[in-house]
Amino acid sequence: MELQTRYTDISELLAIKDMPSAVAKPQLLLFNDKLADNFEIKHDSEYLAKLLSGSTIDKDVAPVALGYSGHQFGHFSPRLGDGRAHLLGAIADNNGTLWDLQLKGAGATVFSRGGDGRCAIGPAVREYIMSEALHALGIATTRCLAVVTTGETVYRQPPRPGAVVTRFAKSHIRVGSFQYLATQGDIEGLEKLVDYAINCHFPDISGTGEQRYIEFLTAVLDKQIELVISWMRIGFIHGVMNTDNTLISGETIDYGPCAMMNQFDLDTVFSSIDHQGRYAFGNQPNIANWNIARLAESLIPLFTDQDAAVEQLSPVVNGFAAKFNDAFNTMWQQKLGLAGQQEGDNALVSELLGLMKQHQLDYTNTFNALTESLVKDFVIDSNLKEWVSKWRLRTSAESYSTMRAVNPAVIPRNHNIEMILAEYEKAGSSLSINEFLKVIQKPYEYEEEFAAWYQPPKEGDCNYQTFCGT
Ligand code: AMP
Ligand code: MG
Repeated sequence: MELQTRYTDISELLAIKDMPSAVAKPQLLLFNDKLADNFEIKHDSEYLAKLLSGSTIDKDVAPVALGYSGHQFGHFSPRLGDGRAHLLGAIADNNGTLWDLQLKGAGATVFSRGGDGRCAIGPAVREYIMSEALHALGIATTRCLAVVTTGETVYRQPPRPGAVVTRFAKSHIRVGSFQYLATQGDIEGLEKLVDYAINCHFPDISGTGEQRYIEFLTAVLDKQIELVISWMRIGFIHGVMNTDNTLISGETIDYGPCAMMNQFDLDTVFSSIDHQGRYAFGNQPNIANWNIARLAESLIPLFTDQDAAVEQLSPVVNGFAAKFNDAFNTMWQQKLGLAGQQEGDNALVSELLGLMKQHQLDYTNTFNALTESLVKDFVIDSNLKEWVSKWRLRTSAESYSTMRAVNPAVIPRNHNIEMILAEYEKAGSSLSINEFLKVIQKPYEYEEEFAAWYQPPKEGDCNYQTFCGT
């Protein structure tokens, strides 16, 4: 495996050399063969287990922990950084694109602040299956190559078996990375980081001088809109949209307290610590906008005239709402297979959402039923009867294929994920994982034989809670 060192020449604050600590008994629990094929990674499982737990480090590999700040639930922590992650380096895929290869849970780092740098098996497996599911759903996300169990106990409430996740990301440059260099006063590093991020993620940016900062902010904003729209299209609630968990590349990162919405309600929150609903399903666009404003602030020191900087950056940040609304309207139009845009479409959407909320209808299954009803007899909730007859008048021969492409039949339902994680925590293995991974690979195909995976929990999910995955 050929790994390149990344980030170290941007700023010495950004990437700090740090070694993973070997674990007692590394064993490969999950391995993503399909992903590995993109990178020609071919090793026996014993070697992979050692490598992907940080127990063996090749001599030409120089692992680093990355520094970053973060607004966590709105409160600024100037120095967070990778407290339980080691970046081994970047690896090229078969198309020559570089991906960071990072181990999560391979021991404490210079940024650990008293944390143990470890990860328990449950959160490790959750990250693996949720990122696989989102990828299959066509959503930009970091990927997981493997989960390795460590043979050690991590001391949580209650103690759990330990594991290390191998994460692939196009980069680990976060909004918090810019905040960090700006806060530390490393303006030269900040400028280099912008140029690195442009080169890596937005090579089409043509502006030079200060203009490129404006174009960069615009490009990041556009990616965030695309990401949040794709989450909302499938009912995904990230749960912890802090600025340190917002990647410039627009990939979903950090699957700690994430969850899927079952019954439609914009106020849905599952995270045990999100008391104010800051990261509620329907508040995700506002928070993405808020995070973009934090990125804009961190770019101000790059301008010679700071007042002029604010004048130029503000319209970009303030343009979020209009751009988002356009994209959101398009999303609903596709979810309902509406041809073109007509007056009354917004009212049609609002009416449906109102009925879904009032009758506590399942988000995924309602849109799936509407989709399938165009080609076969399919039960649609009786409360929607009148609305359906109005909607039908707005559909066309293309509606089915449009709708089928954006309305999943299956999502990684919270109760199914919990069932699988419980199996791992209890027995160290799962009888259901293979079928689940198979079902979730083709989320836009409705197949009767997988119907058991399509159902929301019988008891509802008003008591469901997620926790920050440590
Ligand atoms: P996260 O919730 O994973 O985004 O983490 C937020 C911050 O807490 C990051 O700086 C993490 O590196 C750090 N952190 C989370 N869990 C641990 C842990 N077990 N040991 C050390 N640092 C941690
Ligand atoms: Mg994080």
